[in-house]
Amino acid sequence: MNIRIKEKSLVAWVAAKLLRTDKVAIVFGSVIHLWNTEKNEFLDNKRWVKHELAHVEQYKQYGFARFIFLYLWETIKSGYYKNRFEAEARSKEQEPLLHNEFS
Ligand SMILES: [Zn+2]
Repeated sequence: MNIRIKEKSLVAWVAAKLLRTDKVAIVFGSVIHLWNTEKNEFLDNKRWVKHELAHVEQYKQYGFARFIFLYLWETIKSGYYKNRFEAEARSKEQEPLLHNEFS
């Protein structure tokens, strides 16, 4: 899997404003967009990495456009925290990271 990390991302900045949070990682396809955090700081936080990798998997599972649609629908219906894709990503934080996805 070819996963890329983009620092100082504009879409991550927008997400930070909308979510009213300081540091943000947001996934589009196989690219993890960061705002206010550096690649090394992000990669050192294994729970955070596993969370975002779960979203990369979700994109693969559903396809790009379909996943974005379903994700937004879940957020509208249930809110960000109860969104089933967020719940799944949070549960993946507990699982071991078997290999380094970033080569
Ligand atoms: Zn998430």
